[in-house]
Amino acid sequence: MEHKFKKQFGQNFLTDTNLLRAIVSDGEITKEDEVLEIGAGAGALTKVLDERAKKVVSYEIDTSLESGLLSLGLKNTKFVFADALKEPLEKIEENFEGQYKVVANLPYYITTPLIFKFLTYSRATSLTIMVQKEVAERIIASSGGKDYGVLSVMCQFYAEAKITRRVNRAMFYPVPKVDSAVVRLTKKPLPQGVDAQKFEAFVKKCFSMRRKTLANNLVGYQGYSKAEIENLLADFDLKIRPENLSLEQFLHLFKKI
Ligand code: SAM
Repeated sequence: MEHKFKKQFGQNFLTDTNLLRAIVSDGEITKEDEVLEIGAGAGALTKVLDERAKKVVSYEIDTSLESGLLSLGLKNTKFVFADALKEPLEKIEENFEGQYKVVANLPYYITTPLIFKFLTYSRATSLTIMVQKEVAERIIASSGGKDYGVLSVMCQFYAEAKITRRVNRAMFYPVPKVDSAVVRLTKKPLPQGVDAQKFEAFVKKCFSMRRKTLANNLVGYQGYSKAEIENLLADFDLKIRPENLSLEQFLHLFKKI
């Protein structure tokens, strides 16, 4: 397919059949599964998904790819030429009978909002996604390190997160400036009695200034004064920084506050 690659759409395509099959295997896709792909590109991953899944719905923003994708003649795939980030979730989900899985070599410029879109309120049960290596490391990071932040806490709140493979930049065309990794996020039941949206706002507040202590970041949260926050943090070392709190500790503190 003659194609003018568009950097603004994060177009770095894959061609290696073994790698494409391996990504689909990482997603644990079977003939029972309905799959959402974000960013069909030239359809290399879509072809493998089409063989392995019951049904594939593949979004692509770049309409210049339309004729090439339609000429692939994929039997189980429906292509939608629209912006997957702007498209309302309800409209995307009209394509599926029930639950579905997301498998995608994501456009890097919108990785985080796409992850949040499908991790939070969607009917997707898992996301198997190619992301920049640094983002993958932030997603799976444990407390205490420099990679640990809002993305780690929230991904691990919603899902079991695992890097299933690391992918060298040379596997893409055009070759990007960074290496990648495939991450699988398998959604898990949420802890009872926790409002996910409020918890996210709380975690963001805790990390608002990484260099500040947790106590200082929390001053003003729900109108609390410094003395009140210090009182609520009685179980913790007052000098503790947000990156030193585990997910369980964030949940404990959130419930207490
Ligand atoms: N799946 C192909 C592959 O693995 O070779 C292409 C992956 S490429 C990294 C990302 C694709 O996402 C590009 O084809 C790009 O045009 C498309 N894309 C970028 N932004 C998008 C959006 N908001 N909605 C849907 N597709 C988008």
